[in-house]
Amino acid sequence: MERPKKIVVIGGVAGGMSAATRLRRLDERAHIVVLERSGFVSYANCGLPYHLSETIEHRSSLILQNPVSLGARFNLDVRVRHEVLSIDLQAKTVTIFDRVWKVTYVERYDYLVLSPGAAAVMPNGVDEKWVLAMRTVEDMDKAFAWLYPNPEKAVILGGGFIGLELAENLVKRGMSVTLIHRGKQLLSYLDPELAVTVAQRVRASGVDLRLETSFVSFTRTSVTLDSGEVIPTDVIFSAMGVKPEIHLAQDAGLAIGPNGGIWVDAQQRTSDRYIFAVGDAAEKIDAISGDERLATLAGLANRHGHSVANAIAKVTTVPATPTLGTSILSFDGLVAATVGWSEKALRASGRPVRVIHTHPADHAAYYPGAQTMRFKLMVDPDTDLILGAQAVGGNGVDKRIDVISTAMFAGITASSLAQLELAYDPQHGSAKDPINMLGYVNRNIAEGLTSVVEWHELDTRLNAGDVLVDVRTAGEYKYGHIDESVNYPLDVLREHIATLRGKNVIVYCQVGQRGHTAARILAQEGISVVNLNGGYLTWKAGMASKGDQ
Ligand SMILES: Cc1cc2nc3c(=O)[nH]c(=O)nc-3n(C[C@H](O)[C@H](O)[C@H](O)COP(=O)(O)OP(=O)(O)OC[C@H]3O[C@@H](n4cnc5c(N)ncnc54)[C@H](O)[C@@H]3O)c2cc1C
Repeated sequence: MERPKKIVVIGGVAGGMSAATRLRRLDERAHIVVLERSGFVSYANCGLPYHLSETIEHRSSLILQNPVSLGARFNLDVRVRHEVLSIDLQAKTVTIFDRVWKVTYVERYDYLVLSPGAAAVMPNGVDEKWVLAMRTVEDMDKAFAWLYPNPEKAVILGGGFIGLELAENLVKRGMSVTLIHRGKQLLSYLDPELAVTVAQRVRASGVDLRLETSFVSFTRTSVTLDSGEVIPTDVIFSAMGVKPEIHLAQDAGLAIGPNGGIWVDAQQRTSDRYIFAVGDAAEKIDAISGDERLATLAGLANRHGHSVANAIAKVTTVPATPTLGTSILSFDGLVAATVGWSEKALRASGRPVRVIHTHPADHAAYYPGAQTMRFKLMVDPDTDLILGAQAVGGNGVDKRIDVISTAMFAGITASSLAQLELAYDPQHGSAKDPINMLGYVNRNIAEGLTSVVEWHELDTRLNAGDVLVDVRTAGEYKYGHIDESVNYPLDVLREHIATLRGKNVIVYCQVGQRGHTAARILAQEGISVVNLNGGYLTWKAGMASKGDQ
């Protein structure tokens, strides 16, 4: 009988624990050792910020398993407060520091799984004890200790996921929060005209949001900005991003990928055939470009941990799935979700892109409580395949982005979205679901039935002498319109055809739908006409994103 395999896993959370538990289900005889530097395994790091406001009331809810429960159910040898110091590829051993007993020892492996995650980027040259991070249960406990005397003011450095989650929860705690972000917009993976809505909500919640702002120095009680302004604070959090934990791999001589993560092949195998890597520390393959990238997502870490177990147990060689970067974030009830590439990333990479903007309601507008979302779809104009989508709104954003993610995974074209049969009653959708609408709009553009101009192209067209027609009602026009426009409401547009004949016309309405009808009326009269994509709302958001959000 073959000797039982010995598998050592470094990191006992998302990727590491998925690999370890799946391995046990595949191989009852293997000796599986999980080494975890912190005092906890299987903790819900995604939930940590929500305990600060006690939205997640009990700390214990965040700790899903412990060494004893994992030993009982999965016969895993889980050692917390055990930090791996080095890997010896030739000897196939790891050197471990037991942080409780302060001893160093060596453990042999047949296979090694690296899932050490990523480390929070901390400000340079600052005494780290003044600045808090949010990665582990210990980080959360430390933050709690600082927050215990109920301080009033907090500064958060960084406006990504974790920065916004911290801001939301500190505001809920009743603190006054300043959020400092170096970039021009929050959530850099969103296009600016969607990110601006998030910034508006962040400000509306009372957060003092400083975009295009850097800090230059700290004291225990203040942060000095590049403008010279000094922000007094009681607590400082760093949420400036993360960097893959690669020092073990690098020191051992494993290959590092182009983005600074551990290089892995399609089975998550590193440059050493006995070592696998998953999670935030490992490079991923981008599903759109096929290139290597980083992606710090819990679902990916879990799935790739599963794939590694399959590869070690030799049950299947199905490659680990490339990433679409599907993600979602809530801030004070506003939901921002994305999948695939943004328009700005596609344009920067020189890829042709067709863009669709819509502003649908999450369910039938006549049923109480309907909420509008801003939706954006990016499509390859040559293949009609979906390259990305973004949505910002309330209810229903999550399921629509998940449908698009599924469509992208399955290779369903943008036009085929019109044909998807989706669950509908007035409380949950519309007979023409927002997903179907994207398909219809895409098809109208793809088949040349209507042409569109983007909000960021409008100035160029107007400078070239195009005529801009607002086809909304007089009341809507009075309430706010684009300066250069004339108002010919849709219902009387036919009366103005003679005036528009021979001109290049741009029509717009509130969201693009009446504009499409107007464009069809004019086009059938032989008038050269384009519709402003996403209408006045998208243009207004775009303009807001160019100025001070
Ligand atoms: C506050 C927060 C919120 C998040 N929210 C979301 C979300 O909503 N959605 C989402 O998809 N993702 C979210 N993420 C990201 C997600 O948690 C990570 O992508 C995922 O946990 C990565 O899994 P991992 O196994 O690579 O690393 P981790 O889960 O971070 O685990 C790595 C573990 O390895 C241990 N370790 C490191 N080095 C050593 C060593 N030398 N020896 C022993 N142990 C070591 C660390 O202590 C750590 O516990 C969030 C992350 C954080 C921190």
